[in-house]
Amino acid sequence: MQTYEVIIVGAGSMGMAAGYYLAKRGASTLLLDAFDPPHTMGSHHGDTRIIRHAYGEGKQYVPFALRAQTLWAELEQASGAELFRQTGVLSAGAHDCAFLQEVRESAARYSLPLELLTAREVRERWAGIELPDHFYACLEPASGILYSENAIRAYRELAIASGATLLTNTRVTSLQTVGEDVIVRTDSASYRGKQLLVSAGAWSAPLLQDLGLSVPLVPTRKTVAWFGAEDRLYGADRFPAFLFHLGDSMFYGFPSIDGAGVKIGRHDGGQASHPDMLERTFGSYLSDEGDVRAFLETYMPQAAGALRQGKVCLYTMTPDEHFVIDRHPDKPHIVFAAGFSGHGFKFASAVGEAVSQLLLDGSSTLDLSMFSLSRFS
Ligand SMILES: Cc1cc2nc3c(=O)[nH]c(=O)nc-3n(C[C@H](O)[C@H](O)[C@H](O)COP(=O)(O)OP(=O)(O)OC[C@H]3O[C@@H](n4cnc5c(N)ncnc54)[C@H](O)[C@@H]3O)c2cc1C
Repeated sequence: MQTYEVIIVGAGSMGMAAGYYLAKRGASTLLLDAFDPPHTMGSHHGDTRIIRHAYGEGKQYVPFALRAQTLWAELEQASGAELFRQTGVLSAGAHDCAFLQEVRESAARYSLPLELLTAREVRERWAGIELPDHFYACLEPASGILYSENAIRAYRELAIASGATLLTNTRVTSLQTVGEDVIVRTDSASYRGKQLLVSAGAWSAPLLQDLGLSVPLVPTRKTVAWFGAEDRLYGADRFPAFLFHLGDSMFYGFPSIDGAGVKIGRHDGGQASHPDMLERTFGSYLSDEGDVRAFLETYMPQAAGALRQGKVCLYTMTPDEHFVIDRHPDKPHIVFAAGFSGHGFKFASAVGEAVSQLLLDGSSTLDLSMFSLSRFS
């Protein structure tokens, strides 16, 4: 049986980044993935993800977002690929919106550039937005869009170039600790690891169960759709990525890149589903198109053109919508990173680096305590 210093189960957003940082530091690293990343079966497809720094979900994320942004720039340098586009990110909501308040406090605490705009100023600046008078918006000019699939491809190439072994289309079927080591089994082989990272996205809970861990993760079906939009209003050279908080719902979207249309999704809701039994056809639920089209008709009417394409993707929700990045309480050589609750991609570079430090150094430069598993017990 082959032995590795670290085995990574799940080489998607988090796992592939971790594989790169581990291999770069010389650790013998085996990455196993059930598919061929980047792929369309998990949580990272659909071309793009938003990266924001002034964080509405909690100002404690800001150091993570800033470190992630630095690492994305380094990855661009190292790979030569375009991974980030600085479109700015516009967050809009009512005057009493708690999310926007947290965005403002995050920006103030960390001296991040942030412009506050009245509804009228928003309408004057972007003729494609209809914002009601009781709304306002925060524009983060330094933030923007990550090309998520290209980023995974870049980490994959660099991890392999740094000496990592990647086995694709190789599903891990069981995990078992034997003495100080971990045995990782697939349908055709077994591998021994001195250390283990479980980063299997929506499939993480049963694998962690094998190791005696009960982690409250709910895989959830989500959709995104692209609509025909006037590029003179919504083109990526003039229109930002955006988030709209409407009280009981939240929508996010992307400007039209190279004429692809405006891409839009609804962040809340979705259908809890086992990832192997997911309804993967866009349009199976009326809400797949209906929710986002209704949003566009109200707030961005010239972007509510013909449906160009729709995709089905997965969130892995935790009860408090914060991540779970921790060590096994009894087996410190096992680390896991899961439950990214629909807002994890922007951090993947920083998460990859942090878990590589946990595994190789025993602790990470960034404080991971807010992501501990024990908060659920
Ligand atoms: C529609 C949509 C929009 C989003 N928008 C944003 C956004 O704008 N900004 C943002 O920051 N985040 C966003 N997110 C969230 C972000 O994409 C996820 O949080 C992130 O991709 C999760 O990464 P992951 O590594 O946990 O999962 P994945 O990237 O899915 O990786 C998990 C990997 O594990 C593999 N795997 C699973 N089981 C096994 C097994 N048994 N054996 C071997 N391999 C296995 C899978 O094949 C997969 O490759 C969005 C997500 C979706 C779905």
